[in-house]
Amino acid sequence: MKAVTRIIEGWVGRFEDLDGVVKEMFYVAREVRKNAQAPYSHYFVGVAGQSAKTGNIYRGCNVERGSWTQTTHGEQNMLDSMIAFEGKGAKLARLTLLAGPENMDIVLPPIIIRKRGIWEVSFSEIPSPCGHCLQCIWENCLEDGDVEMYSLLSTGEVAMVTIDNAFPLKFGPADLGVKY
Ligand SMILES: [Zn+2]
Repeated sequence: MKAVTRIIEGWVGRFEDLDGVVKEMFYVAREVRKNAQAPYSHYFVGVAGQSAKTGNIYRGCNVERGSWTQTTHGEQNMLDSMIAFEGKGAKLARLTLLAGPENMDIVLPPIIIRKRGIWEVSFSEIPSPCGHCLQCIWENCLEDGDVEMYSLLSTGEVAMVTIDNAFPLKFGPADLGVKY
């Protein structure tokens, strides 16, 4: 056996330094998060995603059902809205994700509690889509590993990870011979 390694990269910065569209997407994610239907977990998720083709911003929140397995995740909800509007093979450009307990009010622009450099932030602190959603997201990245996923750290700073870094071992449409 021979070890195979890769470096996983992420970026941390200030909300005020984001470009205007990403800032707007965070506000959209905050608004849609309020619509989450999560009476079981009480964990509210809001997601905004931008289409690469049209620039439109789509939104999604988590929708739980009592049977659990039929729950829709926020990222999936956003992606399905994009596909419903733009058709199959719609390409995601980037997304913003806000998640936390139902009673957690997310303030935007975020208040910096403690400013840190990237060398002080561990990967486990960066909110990320779940494994199910990473797969859903990758399906509509159309082989573009640079699709950016933004979230907020508890410090009030913004974290960004590309799908390529968050989901290094991918399985997607191309592996089944599908090309949109
Ligand atoms: Zn998920």
